[in-house]
Amino acid sequence: MTEKTKKIIELLLSEYPDAKCELNYKTPFQLLVATILSAQTTDKKVNEVTEELFKNYGSVDDFLKLSEEELEDKIRKIGLYRNKAKNLFQMCRQLKDNFNSEVPKTMEEIVTLSGAGRKTANVVLSNAYDIPAFAVDTHVFRVSNRIGIADSKDVLETEKQLQKAVLKKYWIKTHHLLIFHGRRCCTARRPNCQNCVIKEYCKYYKNSSC
Ligand code: SF4
Repeated sequence: MTEKTKKIIELLLSEYPDAKCELNYKTPFQLLVATILSAQTTDKKVNEVTEELFKNYGSVDDFLKLSEEELEDKIRKIGLYRNKAKNLFQMCRQLKDNFNSEVPKTMEEIVTLSGAGRKTANVVLSNAYDIPAFAVDTHVFRVSNRIGIADSKDVLETEKQLQKAVLKKYWIKTHHLLIFHGRRCCTARRPNCQNCVIKEYCKYYKNSSC
């Protein structure tokens, strides 16, 4: 890991000492559900919905007591709820039939589940199981490429570059730091470069007049 990358992580750590997953969950299954629900919506909205949902439906077997329509109804405040309900319903069947109702612990297995892609798998592996993984969501992608610790237009390539640039023991924390920074400072439309703690290390800042 270069001194520059180390410095960036240190500065972000001092800015966001509490950076962590902002989805609320108690079990790997609940995190998997919340992550699938979070596509194209905010964690806040997902937490509002899952707070109610998980009170009575917190496990695979609980979900399978619902019809697809009932599940739709319980998540309808979230964007794309029909599609998400369909995926969740299928996913629960797959978990029951293929994985004894447990969320598996490998990327290869998680991506076989309906609605779960590579990013979802990385989020679950790292947060629920503490297995080093570097989930690249929209914030991680944008911020890491702006800073210059990644340089790619491709999400998978960005993930590979981040895995090389950052020591494995810091992958999970750095993922959260980049998300926190992307939500609070390095926003998509108007990055607040003047008040950014890592501006002197940022490629975007150096190359722009912001
Ligand atoms: S200097 Fe600007 S572009 Fe660079 S990380 Fe900070 S907010 Fe983002």
